[in-house]
Amino acid sequence: MRDILVTYHNRLNEQKKLFLNKLTQHLTDLEYNIISSSTLADSISTLKHNARIVSYIVDWESVELKQLEVIAELNPDLPIFLIDTHQNELDLELSNFNLNLDFLQYDQHLTKEDTNRIVNAINDYLNIITPPFTKELMRYVNSNKYTFCTPGHMAGTAFTRSPVGAHFHDFFGANTFKADISISVPELGSLLDHTGLHKEAEEYISETFNSDYSYIVTNGTSTANKMVGLYSASDGDTILVDRNCHKSICHFMMMTDVIPIYLRPTRNAYGILGGIPQSEFTAKEIQNKIDSSPIQAQWPTYAVITNSTYDGLLYNTEYIKRTLKVNKLHFDSAWVPYTNFHPIYKGKYGMCTSAIGEQIIFETHSTHKLLAAFSQASMIHVKGKIDKDVMDECYMMHTSTSPLYQITASCEIAAAMMRGERGYNLINRSIKRATNFRQEIKKLKAESKDWYFDVWQPENIEHPECWELMPHDKWHGFKNQDINHMYLDPVKVTIITPGITNNQLSDFGIPAEIVSMFLDDHGVIVEKTGPYSMLFLFSIGISRPKSMKLLTILNNFKSAFDKNQSVRNMLPNLYSRYPQFYQNMKIQELAKRIHGLMQQYNLPKMMYHAFDFLPHIEMTPHNAFKKLIKGETKTVKLRDLENHTSAVMILPYPPGVPLIMPGEKVTQESRGVLDYLILLENIGREVPGFETDIHGVEKDQDGNLCIKVLIL
Ligand SMILES: *Cc1c(COP(=O)(O)O)cnc(C)c1O
Repeated sequence: MRDILVTYHNRLNEQKKLFLNKLTQHLTDLEYNIISSSTLADSISTLKHNARIVSYIVDWESVELKQLEVIAELNPDLPIFLIDTHQNELDLELSNFNLNLDFLQYDQHLTKEDTNRIVNAINDYLNIITPPFTKELMRYVNSNKYTFCTPGHMAGTAFTRSPVGAHFHDFFGANTFKADISISVPELGSLLDHTGLHKEAEEYISETFNSDYSYIVTNGTSTANKMVGLYSASDGDTILVDRNCHKSICHFMMMTDVIPIYLRPTRNAYGILGGIPQSEFTAKEIQNKIDSSPIQAQWPTYAVITNSTYDGLLYNTEYIKRTLKVNKLHFDSAWVPYTNFHPIYKGKYGMCTSAIGEQIIFETHSTHKLLAAFSQASMIHVKGKIDKDVMDECYMMHTSTSPLYQITASCEIAAAMMRGERGYNLINRSIKRATNFRQEIKKLKAESKDWYFDVWQPENIEHPECWELMPHDKWHGFKNQDINHMYLDPVKVTIITPGITNNQLSDFGIPAEIVSMFLDDHGVIVEKTGPYSMLFLFSIGISRPKSMKLLTILNNFKSAFDKNQSVRNMLPNLYSRYPQFYQNMKIQELAKRIHGLMQQYNLPKMMYHAFDFLPHIEMTPHNAFKKLIKGETKTVKLRDLENHTSAVMILPYPPGVPLIMPGEKVTQESRGVLDYLILLENIGREVPGFETDIHGVEKDQDGNLCIKVLIL
């Protein structure tokens, strides 16, 4: 449904009223929805909040032309029709021409042409705002061609031949299927060859994201990362890897026989990952790592850094670009596809400056994670001189020959949405909303007589910006913080539950997983839950009602917790899975029990020391993977892992970064990481429903966690 906004004051004469009634009737018959208002102020507010308005029709007598100028800022392309009587003097000023203005005249007889002019203007408008690939895809779908190629559902028809198929078809809607077209349709060019409209889409995206080249990736940043890795390093090359990396980087290392040396981020007692300290990027430190590498290493050809971290910390990327003497520099920016559209991110992302000399900078984005796009919509952005043919080959190797066009189109639309003032406004609104939410929590905490939730952020957040982590600030909990190095993104909001004070466990605590479960039962899904922290993303889709709802449920939790309600009442899902265990348990007892385990195993200390020493690299991930495929493995219990070489990647969620890579051996020195995993296992064993999901481990018949290790 498309909306048309009409403004006229209530004192119109009969003739004008008649005309307007007729006009709105015609437009309603054409399935436009008419929204009327009597003041310009109302209309402006409607225009601000209703993105579906495709035209604005105004009685000239009811407004002053000058007042319309605000619309030029809101939406300069919007077709505006002024309706006039014959008597009015035309009195246009130059500034009115920043608007898409047209004129109608009150007349006894509203003609078809009048309505047609409006409809045509609307169609032109939709054409102007729609980027090239998507426009042609829509045109193609509307042309209803008969195809005799794949996909076999044939624009959806095949589904409608079966009851369950028809049910499925109708649930998603006809255009979903009509737009799912074969790569054999020549009009749209080719994603795999980067030709035709696909090429135009990539150029449009490149221009929007300030890159030299951009690639649309239709199977996630998991794949985008592998494409970049594949281009950047080959068998025998040494690469520099952020230990806080996504598993796709580990998968790349399993595919290509590279020798990894690691950049080591810090951690705090909450288990929140800090950044990689500045010193790690210096030539001296990298040489140290090369010299002490158990496998003969050379100067790295490629470095990959997660920017931002999962908890919303961004680097001073300019420092890294200047300091890190590695030619191919990859920022895995899956979490921050919006940095180019607001000045607070300046100097904190890969594409913000040109590549210097021989350097090539890559930035990978999960468009779908924080902009508006279908899942798996992802982009690679490049600055610097790449060998385009080789990169295209790496791209093609990981791309299906049947890409989903809706994903491509949604990448393009995500870019279109972010262009210009409107893109800035969207991000700005998220930043404001997140900052308000943060202040709201702080206010409630200040008002609360006993415990309340807290936010992980600096003392003063009056001014929305990326807040710098300062060495002497206590709030972040990182030791030896560098200045001018790390910044907290305001839209990544980490809520803290009671349990840790000054890096120590306090007597009273509410493990965050309990709150997270409560929220889930109330329809709020948390992005990531740590021992005493929960991450909420304030992306452009978060509305004020949503953020109010979150606040309300947090308050509901507090009130139910303080009344010590039963687990059955507060966490019905958990209860239904383990009714016997939670039969008579109250919520405070549950909190006490889990918090007690954290105390017993001294979680903060564990978190700190789990990463003091990385496990010993026995062989490259690739060689370990080869042995896994050949079956040269056996299974040991997690608790017996010491002195064994893991055949697989071990990765607990949270935090979702690999703790042990394939080919790594836990030794006495790096025992901390194993103790941490055992703690997770114990908690899961003692409190049903609170198991940590650990990728790479299996459960044996007796419920012990087991791991595949190499037979050497
Ligand atoms: C999610 C994520 C990826 C993978 O992105 P998908 O689009 O889900 O495939 C890569 N890197 C990081 C840091 C991520 O968080």
